[in-house]
Amino acid sequence: MTYDAERKMQFLFALRSRGLTDSRVLNAMEKVDRGAFVRGIFAERAYDDMPLPIACGQTISQPSVVGLMTQALDVRPRDKVLEIGTGSGYQAAILSHLARRVYTVDRHKRLVREARLVFESLGLNNVTAFAADGSHGLPEQAPFDRILVTAAAEDPPGPLLAELRVGGIMVLPVGQSDTVQSLIKVTRHETGFDYQELRPVRFVPLLEGLGQDG
Ligand code: SAH
Repeated sequence: MTYDAERKMQFLFALRSRGLTDSRVLNAMEKVDRGAFVRGIFAERAYDDMPLPIACGQTISQPSVVGLMTQALDVRPRDKVLEIGTGSGYQAAILSHLARRVYTVDRHKRLVREARLVFESLGLNNVTAFAADGSHGLPEQAPFDRILVTAAAEDPPGPLLAELRVGGIMVLPVGQSDTVQSLIKVTRHETGFDYQELRPVRFVPLLEGLGQDG
């Protein structure tokens, strides 16, 4: 299945109907072919607005959720962005069109390896993927202007808050269980953090340590 003009139009129409209005985000999503990030039998559903299975028992998020999270993150062209939860690499690829520099971290080495190959094949050379437990962030590259977490924690992890620049924004799902989670936008001020609840979402959990299955 190819990401042709008609499919792009339908894809963008679906995103707009879900509340995506930011033209920079829509342009970035138009550029990134989701089909490059989905393998096997699910490839033919790549342009549907639904999450799909990827390797290591993980999922590539629903495009409209990717779009709304990216919109909430309000990325500026000079920004250095950290994503926790590389997964397929789709979200990082979209961020790479909006930011100066993107770092993305996943606890599964295999996902990081595969995502790197896709970034390379798409010529995205401002994204770097690392295999690590992202709940500690990426201290050696901190501070970040923007942080996006695509796995759910009970609370915003302290190290990630610490690695956010003053004036910076972090968007993340938080929740006590797999079923009840909220998307939260955290803004760092000179004197503390401001928390805004955006919408209900459902993400895989943020787990500790590296994945055992490669
Ligand atoms: N953003 C991805 C979807 C992410 S799915 C995409 O665009 O395709 C969530 C990912 O978070 C999974 O790949 C999972 O391995 C990863 N993850 C969970 N806990 C983690 C942790 N502590 N550190 C890094 N990655 C983690």
